[in-house]
Amino acid sequence: TTPSAPIVRFAPSPTGYLHIGGARTALFNWLYARGHGGRFLLRIEDTDRERNNEAAVAAILDGVKWLGLDWDGDVVSQFSRADRHREVANELLKRGAAYYCYSSPAEIDAAREKAKAEGRPQIFLSPWRDRDPQDAPKEVKPTIRLKAPREGETIVNDHVQGRVAFPNKDLDDLIILRSDGNPTYNLAVVVDDHDMEITHVIRGADHLTNAARQTQIYQGMGWTVPEFAHVPLIHGADGAKLSKRHGAQGVEEYRDMGYLPVALRNYLVRLGWSHGDDEIISTDDLIRWFDIDGINKSPARLDFKKLDDLNG
Ligand code: GLU
Repeated sequence: TTPSAPIVRFAPSPTGYLHIGGARTALFNWLYARGHGGRFLLRIEDTDRERNNEAAVAAILDGVKWLGLDWDGDVVSQFSRADRHREVANELLKRGAAYYCYSSPAEIDAAREKAKAEGRPQIFLSPWRDRDPQDAPKEVKPTIRLKAPREGETIVNDHVQGRVAFPNKDLDDLIILRSDGNPTYNLAVVVDDHDMEITHVIRGADHLTNAARQTQIYQGMGWTVPEFAHVPLIHGADGAKLSKRHGAQGVEEYRDMGYLPVALRNYLVRLGWSHGDDEIISTDDLIRWFDIDGINKSPARLDFKKLDDLNG
């Protein structure tokens, strides 16, 4: 690969089968990498040990393979990188970009309730942001919070959503390390994306607010923020958020119904991206033509008739 070649990743949380929304995200990443001489990496976001299970990891990898999306290098386990996440949390402390917070859950709840009653945004501004940790109660195990900017805006320049501005006064100081020493999701994602040298983060639009929080972590470390492309979610034919009643959700269900990977690929990419009026596009042409700047901003709707036509 050349220095300017993109490095992208698909980063599913192993909570079940490979959902078609996730499959489309994986496909967009794969097409982008293959069309630009880049690399397509796979990371399993298995930090939530209670919800994580091996069967789900296997099902997701099977789904990705069946769809024909070959990945580069070894699959990365996010959980296995927890020491590195803690190291970066401590580095943020050293840089003065994070602080120990000794507020108890009860205090945090009470402060939120008070803000609500006074009609203020329900964000928690920790008193420990400006207090000396020397004064901390000895028996309390602190969390580590990011010292996020309070003034101005955090800007996400997105290839799909455009320029999105988040007023900093509406974002509270994110917890990056829990009191039990475990990293939180946004910290883990930023550290992993940085270390894996990800250039383009292409994922569901439900992560747009996380992109603002993650941007603040990048800034705290002085790291380069990757390019973002937040892809609108897939909706049912009736326009409602996709759920069981709209039909099959898992890629393996489509496989078991007899759909071909090439048909499902063509169908999924066309949910949210198009090339003129072309209905049937070969994988080679998809690789050649697909671009993140051409992704539609509005949610795509499922249309099984089209999928059946493609399966022909
Ligand atoms: N693990 C997240 C999910 O499955 C994706 C995170 C990301 O792509 O940054 O929704």
